[in-house]
Amino acid sequence: MTQGAFTIGIDLGGTTTRMGMFDARMDLLASRSIVTRVAAGPQACVEEMADVVRALLYEQDSSGSGDILGIGIGSPGPINLKTGVLGLLPNLPGWENFHLRDALAEATGFPVILESDANAAAIGEWKFGAGRSTGLDSMAMITLGTGVGSGLILNDRVWHGMCGMAGEIGHATIDPEGPMCGCGTRGCLELYSSANGLVRIAKSVAESSQGTSALLGLMNSGEELTTLKLAMLAEKGNDSAAQLVFQRMGRHLGQGVASLLNTLDLPMVVIGGGVAGAWRLFAPSMFEAVGQYSVVYRLTAPSQFDSCEIHRPFICPAELGASAGLLGAAALPNLSKANSRHQENVELANA
Ligand SMILES: [Zn+2]
Repeated sequence: MTQGAFTIGIDLGGTTTRMGMFDARMDLLASRSIVTRVAAGPQACVEEMADVVRALLYEQDSSGSGDILGIGIGSPGPINLKTGVLGLLPNLPGWENFHLRDALAEATGFPVILESDANAAAIGEWKFGAGRSTGLDSMAMITLGTGVGSGLILNDRVWHGMCGMAGEIGHATIDPEGPMCGCGTRGCLELYSSANGLVRIAKSVAESSQGTSALLGLMNSGEELTTLKLAMLAEKGNDSAAQLVFQRMGRHLGQGVASLLNTLDLPMVVIGGGVAGAWRLFAPSMFEAVGQYSVVYRLTAPSQFDSCEIHRPFICPAELGASAGLLGAAALPNLSKANSRHQENVELANA
């Protein structure tokens, strides 16, 4: 049996739940992926997760009584992180008001630390991905998926905000006259920089391309438009209309990143999620917009695209892909332990 306290990470998604058991050095010992049976309800899914936890434990130690420090779980938001209760989740319909943290702790018998999936991914990139060798104590990760989310690490801690809702940069206003967003306002960042936003921009570019572009052909083919197809058309097909789609998307993302840098003067912003795979296509216009809209970025005179320097804001693509959420979740018990130790030291120093 491997020595030291294990942690278990759970990345709860709308279609798949990924689980992994890690040793004290955060090496992955065993993992499982299970289908998230959303319609079966949250309690049934929690019981399945508990079965997997027992199976993972048994693999390491046939007595099934391994030394577990705790379980970290990243869940789609919104979540009330103080009470551990889920809010109204678009990808997990019918799960609202469920006490996820308490139910999982009860089903497994282990302490559970709950985070939003965006925060868990930010922790993953900070500790084990793009931020790994930097020693930085603050950074943001923006995840470009179906929507746009973000996680903020400030002074070695996840910033939750007053109600646990910090990091909703996807709903930062880019254009007050823009299209309606599901949040009830207009022109939010995620309407321009998510996978759905990219498709929306593609439609508008294709409509104005006057029947000459391959993009219009793709739109009219009846095939589902995806980030990958658009990227192939822009990169391999060298289609200027498809390239314009990524330039516009990058420009709007740059506006969002600029607001973040102006507000927080962060040393690192990591861009992740499926859309970030098209980094080469949108990064130049993103950097241009960051320079245009962020005085903080301009004043700190960044000179680089691909190396992290002290006292310069560094904007880079994520490194871990889909593993960031699982790694970040598994790191939660250790982070929580370190934070409570830090708090005890502060209290002792102040006593
Ligand atoms: Zn919105």
